[in-house]
Amino acid sequence: MAVTIKTAHEIELMRESCKRLAVVHDEIGKMIRPGISTWELDKKAFDLIKELDGTPNFLHLYGYPATICASINEVVVHGIPSKKTILKEGDIIGIDMGLIYKGYHSDAARTYGVGHISEEDAQLIRVTKQSFFEGIKYARAGNHLHDISQAIQNYAESFGYGVVRDMVGHGIGTALHEDPQIPNFKVPGKGIKLRAGMTLAIEPMIDAGTWEVEILEDDWTCVTLDGSKSAHYENTVLITDGDPEILTLYRDGKEV
Ligand code: MG
Repeated sequence: MAVTIKTAHEIELMRESCKRLAVVHDEIGKMIRPGISTWELDKKAFDLIKELDGTPNFLHLYGYPATICASINEVVVHGIPSKKTILKEGDIIGIDMGLIYKGYHSDAARTYGVGHISEEDAQLIRVTKQSFFEGIKYARAGNHLHDISQAIQNYAESFGYGVVRDMVGHGIGTALHEDPQIPNFKVPGKGIKLRAGMTLAIEPMIDAGTWEVEILEDDWTCVTLDGSKSAHYENTVLITDGDPEILTLYRDGKEV
């Protein structure tokens, strides 16, 4: 699939989709506390997306059974919500979700501490988030895609963390997963040249220990091979001739 360049009209629809997702993320973020089940978070996300005239885009994609991915501690991504999975004080949880609005997809992830967490875990969450911002310093027209990848990797590895290799970010638009793939680590070649109008889901997945992961028997849950904790941070980003627009970081109608 070719990398798509969105028209002004399509960009407006991407903005609307992403703003709605930002609202849902904020609401789910407020619910994170010890004692709540990941099923409750999933149910609320489904209801909120519907209220905002959206459609959950993870649900049923490749057979995925839920609206959100709720990935606790050593789970890197694709943790399936369950009534039996109850958040505990000291856990960290990645919430990844997206929606479709008028045919356009949005995708974003946040990692939260549950109650009081260790300074070690707080740093993993902070560094993962910052690695996204280090990456998008290079996300502008004329640069090459892998400039972003390298910046994310350099920053995360400077803390001794492992950068997940098995999963990558992606283009996004009328499909959740469009070209190009966006690695969070250095790969051969410079990658495509970035152009204004590209919309990209940039999503570092960073482990406290090894970058190696495995998939559990449910064929979804992705965990670190060494059991170390993992964090995830993602936004849908619009490439422009100047600074990128972070479409999924809106609060009260403003970019934050
Ligand atoms: Mg994504």
